[in-house]
Amino acid sequence: MNAWETHDPLFGRIPDDPAEPWEVRACSCLAKPAAEDDGRSWFASHIEALGAPDYMVGYWQFWSVLVEKTANGIDRDQVARELHDYNVVMAEASKVYDELAGLSKPNTAAHHVIDAARTKADEWHAELILADLLPLVEGEGARQAVIDYAETLHPGAWEEHQRATERRVAMQP
Ligand SMILES: [Zn+2]
Repeated sequence: MNAWETHDPLFGRIPDDPAEPWEVRACSCLAKPAAEDDGRSWFASHIEALGAPDYMVGYWQFWSVLVEKTANGIDRDQVARELHDYNVVMAEASKVYDELAGLSKPNTAAHHVIDAARTKADEWHAELILADLLPLVEGEGARQAVIDYAETLHPGAWEEHQRATERRVAMQP
């Protein structure tokens, strides 16, 4: 057992105030938060200093407030509600990631999703320019300028556009 695992929170509430929620008032090792400390944040820091992993520190900073409101321990109904919400968020976020960025793992770091979405947007932009704008442009110099611009948005855009056009022509009856 790791050192931090032997430390348990002790809950209490100010006896004169039944409206006051249960709070972490001390640790089983008898360490105590200062009067101005938030008990759960204090406990999170306490076990973090003893080597507790990020997920457990995060539990005491965030989740415990929602699922462990009293000294009775974890409230299954609240856990089920939180997990249900979390499931919905994961499923819905995955759809957005997939549609905008071609990535569907919900725990993908945000900057990967954003980078992939920007790349995809540039590819669409380049294809729109080549498909819709290029046919309206006259003169070889002007056409080349449009193609060059599409290429700066998405290197390889011109070749992809030509291949897609060839495929469409080949598929025509
Ligand atoms: Zn302790």
